[in-house]
Amino acid sequence: MPPQPQADSIMKFIDEFRDADMARGVLGQIRRQSRRQVRLMEFCGGHTVTIMRHGIRQLLPDTIEMLSGPGCPVCVTANADLDKAIALAANPEIIITSFGDMLKVPGSRSSLQQARADGGDVRIVYSTLDALQVARDNPDRSVVFIGIGFETTAPTIAASIKKAEEEGIGNYHILSLHKLCPPVIKALLDSGEVKLDGLICPGHVSAVIGSRPWEFAAHDYGIACVVTGFEPLDVLLSVDMLVNQIEQGKPTVEIAYRRGVTPDGNLTAQNLMHAVFEPSPAAWRGMGTVPGSGLTLREEYERFDAERVFDIDPGPTVEHKGCICGDILRGVKTPPDCKLFRTACTPERPVGPCMVSSEGSCASYYHYGSI
Ligand code: SF4
Repeated sequence: MPPQPQADSIMKFIDEFRDADMARGVLGQIRRQSRRQVRLMEFCGGHTVTIMRHGIRQLLPDTIEMLSGPGCPVCVTANADLDKAIALAANPEIIITSFGDMLKVPGSRSSLQQARADGGDVRIVYSTLDALQVARDNPDRSVVFIGIGFETTAPTIAASIKKAEEEGIGNYHILSLHKLCPPVIKALLDSGEVKLDGLICPGHVSAVIGSRPWEFAAHDYGIACVVTGFEPLDVLLSVDMLVNQIEQGKPTVEIAYRRGVTPDGNLTAQNLMHAVFEPSPAAWRGMGTVPGSGLTLREEYERFDAERVFDIDPGPTVEHKGCICGDILRGVKTPPDCKLFRTACTPERPVGPCMVSSEGSCASYYHYGSI
């Protein structure tokens, strides 16, 4: 029999997490114990990439159906919010700073990349501290950082606001489009549109929030939950643990990523995030407005809030004709269901955000779908 995997806390090196014999061992274990037909969702786009890149879907027994979820922050950003960023870029007084993966994402009529080609001052930064430096270097202009991301990135944005406050930097602002993950999973489950038996919970997000915020899914909805990492054996172990929970009829929350996640998470990061932001409704592509799933700057930090400081006229929102990103993000369709997939829509000429982001389902299917 091939060697069984050690617990993730015992494995130390990346080749162990990609060891073919161990993977065969876990797959054998999954096949032996999987009897019921089950549907599992990987929430996170990073997990979708791992699953597609390593052909994990094809290796699993027919009893297990895998769906991709809404865990790609670029993909779930609504056109109406992208349009606000693009409208700000048209203001000659403003320097836009953003992570690079946002530039090609199409809004209703344009993108940040197009806004830059049209003369807007749009700069790629690698951290919020870089954005803050742009503000220091340009005291006569306003600098807006496009804040996209989940609980993983929000604390770093909060840290930059605190730093700006400490240094008395008055020309630094955030367009806060951040989103919180547990509320959108609750909304997805409440919609009843997709029936799930198990959830692969996001690893990086859970490193900040811990595993406890997923307990509602197990306790209130009977969904098996496992938090895991991003190597192939992490994902296989999580599937094995999910199948075990489901076959035993005992849904709970387990961690297959103990090298990064604890039940309580990173309290320093959480406290920082909650000190600067408060939960608010947020618009998700494909999901509409989800209560309590966004983050808005608290009143004491409103001078840093681009939406409160600038008049933004993003114009009417237009959805991309034929693009089914919203359905894909809700797990009701897959990229090959889209008529534009691989034809009118490719990574070079993306029609929707799921083809732009490296963690988008359409990009993953495009690059690895034939594996
Ligand atoms: Fe949208 Fe392109 Fe994906 Fe179709 S293939 S859903 S157009 S991103």
